[in-house]
Amino acid sequence: MIFRQLFDPETSTYTFLLGDSTANEALLIDPVLEQVDRDRQLVEELGLALRLTLETHLHADHVTASGRLRDLLGSRVVVGKDAGVENADRTVGDRDRIELGELRLEVRSTPGHTSGCVTYVCHEEGAAFTGDALLIRGCGRTDFQQGDPEALFHSVRDQIFTLPEETLLYPGHDYKGRTVTTVAEEKRLNPRLGVARSFAEFDRIMSELELAYPRQIDRAVPANRLSGLIPAEERESARRPCEPEHRTVAEAMERLGRQDAEPWRGMGI
Ligand code: FE
Repeated sequence: MIFRQLFDPETSTYTFLLGDSTANEALLIDPVLEQVDRDRQLVEELGLALRLTLETHLHADHVTASGRLRDLLGSRVVVGKDAGVENADRTVGDRDRIELGELRLEVRSTPGHTSGCVTYVCHEEGAAFTGDALLIRGCGRTDFQQGDPEALFHSVRDQIFTLPEETLLYPGHDYKGRTVTTVAEEKRLNPRLGVARSFAEFDRIMSELELAYPRQIDRAVPANRLSGLIPAEERESARRPCEPEHRTVAEAMERLGRQDAEPWRGMGI
């Protein structure tokens, strides 16, 4: 299997390239819009056809590249069925299978950070891509996008910690330079969700975090509901400032017949 772990330093986001070297086909998990040229170049250098992009959830901290990669390379957009993405090509639910050549991924529903989070498990390789449900020694916040500490607690305990102990866990972000952990490691060492913690303790920890309002949320969430859709005339790779992006998203939503360009305001963000 082809495997590359890629990083966006601006948002500390991991993107994963998984590929089948026999079929020369690949998929990307959680591509970042500003890194689309890097990812496209890598796929081409490795002689791969990008077939799919997979989202672990509707991101609030960066705009996905999935829509743009679909336009550029013909890849199909795959998201969890409760992610709230309006223009996905396939929505997946718990225990669904995603196949690409010899590569097999199982979907596990892991809500709690958002209501639509999923984890992708590659049993053959002993690896899982947890998005923000479980981070290394941490977890995604639960204070917006219908976040729910109780749902997250059960997602991690029942859907991730039930995988074999040696399973490699690749998170959606890391802010300290770490890249991978294991089920055994997090069960023992995760200060929020380790097996020594009760739900009451976890709930208290999450309620006392006092996190800042995410810098890109007003730009990212509406864009990601449309797979990061940007009009053709706007498609240059430079990182754009917030304000023009807002206009772009509003225009895109208007084209789709959405007069109210701010429906996500009611999502508890
Ligand atoms: Fe997130």
